[in-house]
Amino acid sequence: MEHDLVLEGRVVTPGGILDAEVGVDEGLVKQIGSGLKGSRRIRTGGCLIFPGFIDIHVHMREPGWERKEDFRTGSAAAAHGGVTTVVDMPNNPVPTDTPEALRVKAALAKKALVDVKFHGGIPKSRPGDLSKLSGGVVGYKLYLSETTGAARFPGGDLGGVFKLVAATGKPLSLHCEDQAVIDRAARRVEGDGRPDAHADARPPESEVSAVRSVVDGMASAPLLRANVCHASTSDTLSLVREARAGGRDLRCEVALHHLFFTRRSMLENRRLRTNPPLRREEDRQALLRGLKDGTASFLVTDHAPHLLEEKLAQGAAGVPGLDDFAHVVAWLVRSQGVDPVRIAELTSANPARHLGLADRGAVAPGMRADLSVVDLRAPEVVKDDKVRTKCGWSPYDGVEFPGRARWVTLGGELLMDDFEEVS
Ligand SMILES: [Zn+2]
Repeated sequence: MEHDLVLEGRVVTPGGILDAEVGVDEGLVKQIGSGLKGSRRIRTGGCLIFPGFIDIHVHMREPGWERKEDFRTGSAAAAHGGVTTVVDMPNNPVPTDTPEALRVKAALAKKALVDVKFHGGIPKSRPGDLSKLSGGVVGYKLYLSETTGAARFPGGDLGGVFKLVAATGKPLSLHCEDQAVIDRAARRVEGDGRPDAHADARPPESEVSAVRSVVDGMASAPLLRANVCHASTSDTLSLVREARAGGRDLRCEVALHHLFFTRRSMLENRRLRTNPPLRREEDRQALLRGLKDGTASFLVTDHAPHLLEEKLAQGAAGVPGLDDFAHVVAWLVRSQGVDPVRIAELTSANPARHLGLADRGAVAPGMRADLSVVDLRAPEVVKDDKVRTKCGWSPYDGVEFPGRARWVTLGGELLMDDFEEVS
């Protein structure tokens, strides 16, 4: 038989890396083998064929902040970085916490070039209404502190909200910073002009304190599956490890920028203000260890585009990341010793299992043919004028990475063909 498409390369499977061919038919991976025939054949020349990257933490900004990003431009950035599924966050100017807001957003997302899923927000005044969203979302998101556009949980019975989410069967992602700790710390650094003062205004204890309250709250909702967003400190990883050892289904994600930069980087690069902030080198090393040893479950961008003038003049927090997903993956593999099989777990198998996306998560027969082919030997210097995100800049501007995405398929259709976008 002749397949629609055959890709030949180093296939990253749960059992290891195989020198093999992937046969694709009608949008699905049909078989992995050798000597396959195809009407189109791509010889990747030893590139790694990953299952399409799934980024469970992105802010596509539409509706409401289309000047920063929209589903078309954000998804083009995703394809550029090898990301084939994105999960959007609910903190738009009109939060995605009602069925109507979700309908509006889902309609806008139809123009995306990659697959888009949604997190639902927790309705502030009637948290019980969150169940009305459950048919259209893959999970929920709760903010324990103030950050861009977020409706912060007003405090009180965290366990009660956890029970409501657990009853839907969907997981909960949590932005973990403790507002009371931030308020105290922010007063201490008020008027402090140092470029890294933001890191002291939202100190590590703020995250650790919030994660503790999450672990406490889970005692009254033992069935909750929870995810600590963008874990940034060594102590957070210890708390997640302990909670799991104690039988809680608590996971955490690590964001690209916390793996690549430290708070020292803020002294030279004024674009790096994020929530939670960049941390010390010891924390960066701990995150890298957590990525390798299984403490961290997900690798994410926390793609949070703002216009540069909003960053530099108003101090908006958040950096874009989708364009650079495969860049950072290549760096993790080539320069930081992360096993590609582990990368596939962090970027595809774990997110698919966590969100209940049974049709993806591995390069295997019967799975969607979402594939991210990464060339580890295609160095590239990131430049602002090469990104697809509408905000038009990258935190990595000027950084040389060892590799990048070279072919990307979504349901068997090419989104990127030998470094060139297919439009
Ligand atoms: Zn975020």
